Amino acid sequence: MLQKQPWHKLSQLLGARGVKADWTGFPENLLKPTNELAETFPCAGRCGGYMDVIKHNDGQHIGVCASGCDKRSLQMKDLIIHYPDTTAIFSGLGQAFGISATSHAIIDGIPACWQIGDYNPSASYRFPVATLFDAQASRIERAIGQLAARYKNPFFFLLPSASAVTQSVQDVALRNGCKVFAYEDLIEFTNNSIHVRGMAANMLAEISAGWIKHIDGAPGETRYPTPAGAKWEDFVLEFTADEMITVSCKGQGHKQFSAEDLQMRDKRTKKPKKAWTFLQAMAAANGNMSVSDIDKVKKTKQEVSANLQRVFQIPDDDPIEWSGEDTAYKAKFIVRGGEKLTLSNARKRTA
Ligand SMILES: [Zn+2]
Repeated sequence: MLQKQPWHKLSQLLGARGVKADWTGFPENLLKPTNELAETFPCAGRCGGYMDVIKHNDGQHIGVCASGCDKRSLQMKDLIIHYPDTTAIFSGLGQAFGISATSHAIIDGIPACWQIGDYNPSASYRFPVATLFDAQASRIERAIGQLAARYKNPFFFLLPSASAVTQSVQDVALRNGCKVFAYEDLIEFTNNSIHVRGMAANMLAEISAGWIKHIDGAPGETRYPTPAGAKWEDFVLEFTADEMITVSCKGQGHKQFSAEDLQMRDKRTKKPKKAWTFLQAMAAANGNMSVSDIDKVKKTKQEVSANLQRVFQIPDDDPIEWSGEDTAYKAKFIVRGGEKLTLSNARKRTA
């Protein structure tokens, strides 16, 4: 039997704030005191409502039920407003959803709304992940609209309870480029800490793959799914046929690229461009290619670098460096295979 998790409680209190008596059923170790005192206090009487808290001149706090069922003295410590331990909860969510670099930041202007990090499926894509402690459809829908206006990009939105993810909320999310998930079954609080019970990272991966396809849309603009944090040194490019290379990076699997995929084929003549033969010659030289006259190949090399940087999504680092000492171009990635060509032979073949 799965124990009912307490997360629904997060959305029951407005702004996820309340005195300890409001937080009944929620783990005490996941509550943090604020320095605010409550102005209302739950009435333990029949009314099921709240008492007004009145401060007397002698410093005593008295609770007076609006329905008249009770009037009693209240301890100061019971009036302290508590807020959930967001650091603990959000790091649990970060693990369950595969969110890298969780730095939690409250979102100004939307009560109880946080950005808990970014989902970072590949080097050049980051999708914000936000969460809201609320269960009311109108407030959830307004928050989604406000976040969409801020982010201007697709984002994920996490809610504590599945019951809050109504059809109407999903419709609003869809219109705003947002995907909503509930997490009540994904993390649990046992033995005094938060544990991941279900993994949702593959759901995020699938959805963001669709978003990326949509963003990259233009035909011929093939991209390699470069993992976050990858460097040129992690890449292996291997010529497997005259006009085909196979690329792998950090266990990301092999993907084939044609000259056309790398935009290294002339659209008019249908022949590989100089950039492609340059890359072939680099492979033949195992990534360390002597060049006698740099001025003759400088422009081609720049084109190769720019194309690789775009396709492999590492815009800030040049993949091929010039070594003045060796008068050679050196690839930071591993490149091999192909016919034993020299650059001048390769040029003759494409001329
Ligand atoms: Zn009462």
